[in-house]
Amino acid sequence: MMELAISTADADLVASEILGGESERCAVLFASRVDRADGGVRFIVRNIEIPSPESYTEQTAVRAELNPAFVAKISKNARMRGDSIVFIHSHLDEARPEFSRIDDLGENRLADFLAVRMPGVPHVSVVVSAGGWCGRQLGTSNPIKIVSIGERRDVLFEPGSCGEPIQPIFDRQVRAFGEAGQRVMESLTVAIVGLGGTGSVAAEQLAHLGVRRFVLIDPDKLEPTNLNRVVGASKGDIELPKVEVAANHIAKIAPEASVKCVQGDITRTRIARELIPVDFIFSCTDSHGSRAVIQQISYQYLIPCVDVGSILTAKNGRVTGIHGRIQALAPGLPCFSCSGLIDAEEVRRDMMNEEERRLDPYIQGAQEPAPAVISINSTVTSLAVTMFMSITLGIPSEGRYVLYNANRPSLRSVTASQNPTCYICSPSGVLGRGNSQALFTRND
Ligand SMILES: [Zn+2]
Ligand SMILES: [Zn+2]
Repeated sequence: MMELAISTADADLVASEILGGESERCAVLFASRVDRADGGVRFIVRNIEIPSPESYTEQTAVRAELNPAFVAKISKNARMRGDSIVFIHSHLDEARPEFSRIDDLGENRLADFLAVRMPGVPHVSVVVSAGGWCGRQLGTSNPIKIVSIGERRDVLFEPGSCGEPIQPIFDRQVRAFGEAGQRVMESLTVAIVGLGGTGSVAAEQLAHLGVRRFVLIDPDKLEPTNLNRVVGASKGDIELPKVEVAANHIAKIAPEASVKCVQGDITRTRIARELIPVDFIFSCTDSHGSRAVIQQISYQYLIPCVDVGSILTAKNGRVTGIHGRIQALAPGLPCFSCSGLIDAEEVRRDMMNEEERRLDPYIQGAQEPAPAVISINSTVTSLAVTMFMSITLGIPSEGRYVLYNANRPSLRSVTASQNPTCYICSPSGVLGRGNSQALFTRND
């Protein structure tokens, strides 16, 4: 299935620019392409151009046609960057939009023109009305799913959405978020980075919820000291890769689930690229280097992410503090850098290999392991899974940056401000750049 991903802010901008008025209007988007987990293609919207009134040859209540000079100009810009072009036009009626006979004719001419100028590059056609969105590959009848990514992941257009009957085991969930919500769960490919005390809980809960496609990433093997908190693990699993332990646990809950196990370090390019085809990321790692890579991919490829962190402090055998943080990353939300949660020196160390770490004068001895207890991990991970459901299903739970303090106890939603020129989460950063921007990862 082909999919078009656009930030919610861009989708709102397009709608406000082209809807309303007496005649149809157009918007042009530039999008890069990546392969999806299901074998399809994902178009990632990078930027928008709104044609001026002089850019049209015709503009009526049933037709809007851009002039050849304008189309030549945008195709030149797209060709230079290897982008696809998304042609959007409005329909004036309030009904759910459909492509008209006039659209078919105009599009075929456009597709022929672009096939000569940009051979082999697929483009997209979208109609927007007050009744919604509708998309297809330009000059064809192949439908394209459209999703907007922001504080929520909204499916703006879902072609032919009736599928297999829903399994009876999901009866109680269908009563909560309907068949449509259950189908969303089953349609998503979810990556979990880190399969320890929090990631294993996320894997278990997502399998119960009905997620059926997973990418699990972790470099480590299960150690005896993990058995107090890695759910689904037992003594017989010691020395197995953590990704395999989690995959086995998912298989017990959902034998039909497809799970890709990636045993490796997310700070390495080859491993990091495994995240690009997914629909959602759970960041369950406590390393600064890993989080730096995950946030770049999340914003650059418009993939929503929830990050989970918990800190339990103890002194002389007494717990002194229990804190948790659950934070979503998506266009319009501040990244870790804006939230002051990335330490450049820590990132530098996390990116090193064994040899470099041994030679680095600032790293001495092994790091002391942090205290960890299952109930704290489960509390924060459950909140993260609920945040995931709020983002993907719209269940009422508005916090996107939530802090937990067990002592008070309190759970509060906080905000961080977004740096308007942030190199990650702002339009002048990597936001929406797709494959045109290299990852800040290592190739060894
Ligand atoms: Zn039309
Ligand atoms: Zn930022």
